[in-house]
Amino acid sequence: MSLDEFGLIERIRRRTGVRADIALGIGDDAALLQPQPGQQLVVTADTLNAGVHFPLQTPAADIGWKTLAVNLSDLAAMGATPRWCTLSLSLPEASPEWVDAFAQGFFALADAHDIALVGGDTTRGPLSLSVTAMGEVPTGAALRRDGAQPGDDIWVTGVPGEAGLALSLWQQGRLDVSQPSADPALEQLRLRLARPTPRVEAGLALRGLASAAVDVSDGLLADLGHICKRSQVAADLLGQALPASVAATACGDEVAFNALRATAGDDYELCFTAPAALRAQVSESMSCVAVRATRIGYIRAGSGVHLSNEEGVLQAVAKRGFNHFSG
Ligand code: ADP
Ligand code: MG
Repeated sequence: MSLDEFGLIERIRRRTGVRADIALGIGDDAALLQPQPGQQLVVTADTLNAGVHFPLQTPAADIGWKTLAVNLSDLAAMGATPRWCTLSLSLPEASPEWVDAFAQGFFALADAHDIALVGGDTTRGPLSLSVTAMGEVPTGAALRRDGAQPGDDIWVTGVPGEAGLALSLWQQGRLDVSQPSADPALEQLRLRLARPTPRVEAGLALRGLASAAVDVSDGLLADLGHICKRSQVAADLLGQALPASVAATACGDEVAFNALRATAGDDYELCFTAPAALRAQVSESMSCVAVRATRIGYIRAGSGVHLSNEEGVLQAVAKRGFNHFSG
């Protein structure tokens, strides 16, 4: 069965509801949104292209989840409350089954974070998904990349590197991204790649505590490098302090994981800085939202990211991480 563009849009629209902060949603030429007074609008956009951002065999529901997750992660890194989003679909064919499965993954995450789909675009073309996500933050309270200060601690949520290891296991033919794995450790790694958890609650809890924040999409070193550059400071990362992966060890891939964890992308964890005097409050706020957060280094005067090796010797790291146009 094949549907026209409007049939596809209708399959998506019927999953949306009525809200006070939406004067006009899907169906007109544009949406009319009602931001709250005293809030700044936070806007971000991200695109996922088939074969570039996810393997072609990825199930539609996982693609739907991830399309929104990468955008929610940017809102999280700003300390924003998610509110509205638009969705642009470029689809090779008008398959209602594919759209329904995509919508199932997309709305599972959207509903969990109370973000409303208010419009979009639907066209024929190579498989590509674009979301523009909007959120709100009290004026002046956003977490930015430019606030890190010498003496601040560097923290990271979760276990960066697990998504990268999953991708590497898929490339080696050891992980099937098209279906759940019977092996619990492999399944955990697959989910880190297919269904990343945007750290929205952590971002909200860090308002007033973190001096700078970034989400780890291109690799810890590269993304922390953005904080250093914008804040005009240096970062000393303690290699031994980076979170270990129980799943990687269970798969016998501890060495591979340790080699990847500072540079692999796709984790959508938060890397943030906070004054050392707020250490206990940061720990407390992260446990309140049930997010693991690990202290992994320090900010000092200077420039660039430096990583200590097994002997504890700090070495400057060249720009490493994922870049679409390098190499
Ligand atoms: P126009 O031609 O005026 O851009 P469209 O026919 O593209 O309008 O879209 C009709 C309505 O459906 C608009 O409100 C648009 O925002 C919405 N829409 C289109 N595609 C999507 C989509 N993939 N997800 C959500 N809303 C969509
Ligand atoms: Mg349109």
